[in-house]
Amino acid sequence: MIGNIIKPFYLEGLSFECCRCSTCCRHTPGYVFISLNDLELLASHTGMDKKEILTKYCREIYTIRGTKISLKEKPNYDCIFWEKDGCIYYEARPIQCRSYPFWKAYLGNRRKWESLRSFCPGIDKGKKHSKEEIEEWLDKVRQENYYFI
Ligand code: SF4
Ligand code: SF4
Repeated sequence: MIGNIIKPFYLEGLSFECCRCSTCCRHTPGYVFISLNDLELLASHTGMDKKEILTKYCREIYTIRGTKISLKEKPNYDCIFWEKDGCIYYEARPIQCRSYPFWKAYLGNRRKWESLRSFCPGIDKGKKHSKEEIEEWLDKVRQENYYFI
């Protein structure tokens, strides 16, 4: 019984392949938090100064643990990085986007994972990701520093 509780449901891995439909980048309000590493990556990818990136593309979000930085949204709730052909900085997109859908919030049980099917056509399709790969994403996200102040 205890074994069943602690065994992750994704022991055999999970299939996911993004088809770049952009559903998760558009039309719905939300946060794309960026970490200090994300900011470094964006600066080296774009050649822009970090301060310029923060001013042009980011907003402050106050939380009880400190100030986090999220990408801005357009008035229609599209992500500020989304243009008609998709994410303009896809190669340097924040880890929140790169690690999706292997987020702690969706990996608690199969029902949570399957709830993503209703809006993300990549769920349970394409490449199989092993338990180790999935947990590598969880670890990477856990190690990021999201607090700027
Ligand atoms: S909703 Fe899923 S398939 Fe569509 S862009 Fe986002 S991650 Fe990719
Ligand atoms: S940063 Fe790019 S991949 Fe992430 S939500 Fe914005 S447009 Fe989509």
